[in-house]
Amino acid sequence: MAEQKYIYTVDPFSQQYEDQTRLYQFYDNLREGKLTTTGCKACGHIPWPPRVICPQCLSDDLEWVDMPKTGKVYSYTIQVAAVPPGYDPPLVFVLVDFDNGVRIFTRLLDTEPEEVKTGMEVELKVGAAPPDAQGRDRIIPCFTLKR
Ligand SMILES: [Zn+2]
Repeated sequence: MAEQKYIYTVDPFSQQYEDQTRLYQFYDNLREGKLTTTGCKACGHIPWPPRVICPQCLSDDLEWVDMPKTGKVYSYTIQVAAVPPGYDPPLVFVLVDFDNGVRIFTRLLDTEPEEVKTGMEVELKVGAAPPDAQGRDRIIPCFTLKR
């Protein structure tokens, strides 16, 4: 019997390489442990996630800016069922507020559900994602409690 190859029909994870997205720099920065986004040079807005066009003023004059090293948990939820293949519940999801006005929905790693509270300080922790259709490694920006 011929070997069956898994085909991605619906890929929920982002495209991360230069041949796939104009925003590949975000993932290059993330691989170096640096969380960045784009800042609009025309109006100063800092959109999340990174954009090629400012959603506030429609300018395409954006630059890469560093995100603050830590943020605070605005809210959280625990997913106990129907998690994506390859993940074990429970999963902790948080909304994190940063002092530059950005709010990020993300996963909190290495944290038990009963540990997380609003207002807690969190820091970046790069998480693994399944490889892309070409077999290249992928990563996602996650956070963990600052201990
Ligand atoms: Zn703008």
